[in-house]
Amino acid sequence: MKYEAVIGLEVHAQLATNTKIFCGCSTRFGAEPNTQTCPVCSGMPGALPVMNRKVLEYTVKSGLAMNCRISPLSVFARKNYFYPDLPKGYQISQFDKPICEHGHVEIVLDGEIRRIGITRIHMEEDAGKNLHEAAPGYSLVDLNRACVPLMEIVSEPDIRTPREAAVYMKKVRTILRYLGVCDGNMEQGSLRCDANVSVRPVGQKEFGTRSELKNINSFRFVEKAIEYEIDRQIKLIESGGKVVQETRLWDAAAGRTYSMRGKEEAHDYRYFPDPDLVPIEVDVAWVDGIRASMVELPDAMRERFVSEFGLPEYDAEVLTAERNLAEWFENVVKAGGAPKAASNWIMGDLMKLLNEENRSIDDCPLKPAQLAAMLKLIDEGVISGKIAKTVFDELYRTGKEPAEIVKEKGLVQISDESAIEDEIRRIVDASPKELERYRAGDVKLMGFFVGQVMKATKGKANPKVVNELLRKVLEG
Ligand code: ADP
Ligand code: MG
Ligand code: ZN
Repeated sequence: MKYEAVIGLEVHAQLATNTKIFCGCSTRFGAEPNTQTCPVCSGMPGALPVMNRKVLEYTVKSGLAMNCRISPLSVFARKNYFYPDLPKGYQISQFDKPICEHGHVEIVLDGEIRRIGITRIHMEEDAGKNLHEAAPGYSLVDLNRACVPLMEIVSEPDIRTPREAAVYMKKVRTILRYLGVCDGNMEQGSLRCDANVSVRPVGQKEFGTRSELKNINSFRFVEKAIEYEIDRQIKLIESGGKVVQETRLWDAAAGRTYSMRGKEEAHDYRYFPDPDLVPIEVDVAWVDGIRASMVELPDAMRERFVSEFGLPEYDAEVLTAERNLAEWFENVVKAGGAPKAASNWIMGDLMKLLNEENRSIDDCPLKPAQLAAMLKLIDEGVISGKIAKTVFDELYRTGKEPAEIVKEKGLVQISDESAIEDEIRRIVDASPKELERYRAGDVKLMGFFVGQVMKATKGKANPKVVNELLRKVLEG
């Protein structure tokens, strides 16, 4: 039997506010344990939460960007459970009246656009962190993270493959980073997800029983964990077993998921409206103001790069994955660079060099105008595409102007026909056997001669001129 997977993601994004969601404590990552706490976030009896307006603004912004309906009235609820990192004994979250609902996100997969539904986006507070390694024999609790604002983005079960799940999560990260509402730092836990996975025989309409994989913190792990889980469920069913609804953890080192606990139902949490917080009413004018102030979003930018600059869908998708990268590209074009050539250099050589040094486009040592200037030199035939590789490396390393590098290193392309022809005749004279084979019909040897000429001229001969003249000389 053939199976198909059904996947829904719950993405948790830490909002990039300076202070926590219900108190004025700092949200800065990496501080000494328990130095960013107060009576509210450490759960002291009687301490009252006060809503951070920025959290609402950021969540509404995200909801708009993901095509959600913004609820005019939304309510905070208490989700009750016991765990040492949760001093109040409940997490303030949203339940039946979330702030955003009924949205969708578009992803591009193998050149095709797919739409993934967003069930809801709600606001909640993070819990603290248990430290099991800090003191031998004890577990300690750090409450710096308690009450840090989170947004939970719940997708519809619209995802069908592990790769699609990873692409979707990347897209969510891209959108949040464009908006500036979440830094998307997965190593520090600013973006993590739970993956719900089930399988069903192809053609069956009903969903199978799902398991929930908790706290996945990298794109690679999303893919790997879901892959493992699909495989596990299929094998289980094939061997006569039954998938049970449960919460599982991904063990990255072992490359497998394992059962953590039976899955709890909503009623286990005894949700009820938080009496300490008033319902949130948002007015239409305020939402319209947020909508009007929003930056151009990645999808709009991708479509514009295709229509305005004639870029292939693939290039446009890669370049718009990061807003600063997209802007960098646009600045090359504004400085006179041809769009497709600019895209090739950025996606190829530039990204390679940046990746090698683990740099982002933000601290790229090269300015967009410099790449544009180099493209102009290629266009005008001053340097060949091959020499341009050398110029580009030098440009990246030194930040000197392209024209200066070309002059200093004597890299100007040789287009002088008589000089090139002299070189060609010398090489052809020295290669009688190859010439004979070429004339006997082995046209592949053209490549050999071109190579010889380029070698002799240290790559500086204008390839177009070389090809024309070679053909003339070889054909006698
Ligand atoms: P909770 O995990 O809190 O019980 P929900 O019932 O809202 O929350 O579901 C959470 C996620 O599980 C959603 O992303 C949803 O798309 C996904 N989901 C629901 N049913 C299935 C299923 N049978 N297979 C895979 N994913 C599912
Ligand atoms: Mg869940
Ligand atoms: Zn606090």
